[in-house]
Amino acid sequence: GIAVSALALSLVACGSDDKSDTAGGGDSKGGKIALLLPESKTTRYEALDRPLFTEALKAECASCELIYSNADQDAAKQQTQAEAALTQGAKVLVLDPVDGKAAAGVVASAKAQNVPVIAYDRFIEGANYYVSFENEAVGKLQAQTLVDALKAAGKTSGNIAEINGSPTDPNAADFKKGAHSVLDSSGFKIAAEFDTPDWSPDKAQSWMEGQLSAIKSGLVGVYAANDGTAGGAIAALKGGGVKPLPPVTGQDSELAAIQRIVSGDQLMTIYKAVKPQATAAAKAAVALANGGKAESTGDFKGVPATILDPIAVTKANINDTVVKDGIYKVSDICTAS
Ligand code: BGC
Repeated sequence: GIAVSALALSLVACGSDDKSDTAGGGDSKGGKIALLLPESKTTRYEALDRPLFTEALKAECASCELIYSNADQDAAKQQTQAEAALTQGAKVLVLDPVDGKAAAGVVASAKAQNVPVIAYDRFIEGANYYVSFENEAVGKLQAQTLVDALKAAGKTSGNIAEINGSPTDPNAADFKKGAHSVLDSSGFKIAAEFDTPDWSPDKAQSWMEGQLSAIKSGLVGVYAANDGTAGGAIAALKGGGVKPLPPVTGQDSELAAIQRIVSGDQLMTIYKAVKPQATAAAKAAVALANGGKAESTGDFKGVPATILDPIAVTKANINDTVVKDGIYKVSDICTAS
């Protein structure tokens, strides 16, 4: 009842277990920390990762300075940006690689200068630390939510189009593996499959347009690995006159995707809480910059790591996830149009 929630509120406001007040980076030695993000067509990087990392770094180390670059899906450009950060005296690189394999070269030059590298979201061989999510679980959650929705609608067979992420992104391979582990034995047929270069929504859209005449008639669902590619697929389906729209998956809880879920154009997305991710990365960066050890919750391929849990979001739990965590207000989602 009201009394209980009022009490709960007052506990939140008046709690005495007050560890959070120690922020401000008292004993940190400061220095430059570089954050190198891969692209901007996926909205999370500029809308969430960048500001949340900036904020967490400030809280962790008041005298630290952020060097920031976005590679716009260009691996060569990212290499140049990483080298520039090293030249500018970065003490740690927090790198979300456009190309996971090519980034091993960046790790090598950083190591040669005693600069630790934190693999941010996407794994890099030889990195000093890794912060990400259970990425295979992402693919499983997406595919399982799709299959469950189809079965709930009484369907047990039909065509699924599978749109995966970029072949140079190690996460994309994990999402795909997780998706196949569910779809391959689901009774539905993966009628067409595409690895989207650069995770480009436009390329996902034109691929989907090209597939329509062949698979449209038996099409029951679209597995799209993230919200950008989902947006491309949905535009292609609408443009091709597919009615009603089949359920389409996604990832990232982009605002446009949450709005499509509310309006019924998209089935689901994945919520990956970027704040704990960015905070873990900033803490690790400051610890490593000070010559210390970064706290980890485990190991990933021999690299100390923090691995977080993804959550599937449908119409049913938008409130309990992205709204509750303050990512969006209801008024951001429900704009009058
Ligand atoms: C990230 C996803 C993102 C995709 C495209 C992946 O590595 O984990 O959140 O949608 O890259 O940038």
